[in-house]
Amino acid sequence: MTATVPLPATAGSLDGRTLPVEDPSTEEVVAHVARGGALEVDRAVASARAATRAMRDAAPLERGRALRRLAAEVESAAEELARLESLDTGKPLSLARGEIAGCVAYLDYYAGAAGTLQGDTIPLGPGSTAWTVPEPVGVSAHVVPWNAPLSMLCRSVAPALAAGNTAVVKPAEQTPLTALRFAGLVEAAGFPAGTYEVVTGLGAEAGAALAAHPGIGSLTFTGSVATGRAVLRAAAEHVTPVVTELGGKSPQIVFADADLDDVARQVVTGFTANSGQYCDAGSRLLVDRAVAGELVERVRARAGALTLGAGADDPDLGPMVSGEHRRRVADYVDLGRAEGADAPTPPQTLPAVGHFVAPTVFTGVTPTMRIAREEIFGPVLAVLDFGTEDEALELADATDYGLGVGIHTADIDRALRVADRVDAGYVMINEYFGGGVAVPFGGTKLSGTGRERGLVALESYLTRKTVVARRRA
Ligand code: NAD
Repeated sequence: MTATVPLPATAGSLDGRTLPVEDPSTEEVVAHVARGGALEVDRAVASARAATRAMRDAAPLERGRALRRLAAEVESAAEELARLESLDTGKPLSLARGEIAGCVAYLDYYAGAAGTLQGDTIPLGPGSTAWTVPEPVGVSAHVVPWNAPLSMLCRSVAPALAAGNTAVVKPAEQTPLTALRFAGLVEAAGFPAGTYEVVTGLGAEAGAALAAHPGIGSLTFTGSVATGRAVLRAAAEHVTPVVTELGGKSPQIVFADADLDDVARQVVTGFTANSGQYCDAGSRLLVDRAVAGELVERVRARAGALTLGAGADDPDLGPMVSGEHRRRVADYVDLGRAEGADAPTPPQTLPAVGHFVAPTVFTGVTPTMRIAREEIFGPVLAVLDFGTEDEALELADATDYGLGVGIHTADIDRALRVADRVDAGYVMINEYFGGGVAVPFGGTKLSGTGRERGLVALESYLTRKTVVARRRA
C-alpha cells in the first residue's frame, strides 16, 4: 500500500529538521516533512503577502474561474488524494473518497460565490450617500486539524481565496501530506505564486508562530478547546480576527415515536464515522426511557457488526490517528467503567498493529460523569435516558459544548420546538450529518466562534469599508 501512493515533495525547513509521518494503520513511518517554525512562517507570510495585490486586483469572476480550475484539478487527482489521506489518517478509503469529493464541492461552491460579493448603499438625505465595499483581509491563516485534513483545509481556504485573499496553512503534524500535495494543484490551477503557502511543523512551534504573526489578516482554527484558547490569546496581540471550531459533545435526541431501525443506523453512523473523530460526532444518545432498552440493543448489535482494519482495506472503521490519541480514547473507556457506567466488551478482535479502538456503548451514564460531558473524539457513545421533552432539553444542554444536535421524532411540531429551544449551532432533524457546503456550520459555548460554510463564511475573510460622500453642489 505505502509504495503505491506517490508522496508529495516537501520544502525543507531552514535548519533541515524534519518530522516523521506515520501510517496509523500500520504504525510505519511513511514520510518525513519539514519541521518548520517561526522562520518558515515568516517566509511563508511574506510570500503570501507579496501575492495579495494580484489576488485583490483580480476581478471576482476571474478568481471564481481560478477556483473552478482548482476544483477540476482536485477532481482529477481525487483518487491519489483519497489514498494519500487514507494513508496519513488511517481512515477507510471510501470515507476519504467522500471527503475529497467534499473538497471539490467547497471549491466549486465558493467559485460561484466569488462573483456574489456585494456592498450596501445607504442614502443619507439630499446630496449625501454612504456605501460599503467588501475588501479582502490580505493574508488569511489556517491552522488545520488531523481528523479530515484536506476537507477542513478546503472548507476555509476556498472562501478565503474567493474573497480575494492569499492563504498560509499549518496542517496538523500527524497529517500534513494532502496539504502539501494541494500546493501543486493550486499552482496548476494558475493562481499567482504565493497564493497558497504551507508550513509543516509542530503546533507549539509553527502553529503558535502563525497565530501570533503580525502579517496575517485573519486566523481560522479547528481543533481542541485548549489550543483554541491559546490561538485566541496569541491573535489578541495583533487584534487578528479569529474563527474557531472547537468540537463538541453532540447529542442525538430520540423520542419514542421515532423509527427505531432508522435511528439505530444513524446513531451508529453518528458516533463511529471516521472512528468517532469528527467534531460533530453524535457522541451522546439521549433516548426516551420507553424505548431506551430496545434502541440500545439495536445500536449495540449494529456497532458490534462493524469491521475494523487498515484504511487501505476499506473497513467500516480505521484506527485512531495516532498512538497518543488511541491512549487518550482508551483512557476514557477505562474512566467510564471507573465512573460506574456499563459497557460490554465489544465483540471485535483488534488488528495486531495499528491504533485501534472498537466501538463502545456506555449505558448507566449520569449527566455529571466525565464521559457524558467531555469530548472523547473516538468511537464511544454515552447513553442517557429521559422521561419528558424538558428533561431531554436539559440533558442536551448539560455540557460546555453546543455544536450539533440530532432530533429524531415523527412529530414535526415537537422537532421544531426542540430545535428552537436547544442551545447549539447546528440542528439536524431526522438526518444526522445532514447539510453540506451551502449550509452554515459552527457552534455555541465552547464549540467556538464564527461560522464556516455557506455564504456567511465569506465574511470571515472580508472587511467592510464604508465610504460616506457629500455632493457639494
Ligand atoms: P490540537 O487542537 O492541539 O491541534 C489542532 C491543530 O492546532 C494542529 O494543526 C496543531 O498543530 C495546532 N496547534 C497545536 N498547538 C498549537 C498552538 N499552541 N498554536 C497554534 N496551533 C497549535 O488537537 P490535538 O491535540 O491534536 O487533539 C486533541 C483533541 O482536540 C482531540 O482529542 C479532540 O478532542 C480535539 N480535536 C478537535 C477537532 C475538531 O474538529 N474540532 C480536530 C482535532 C482535534
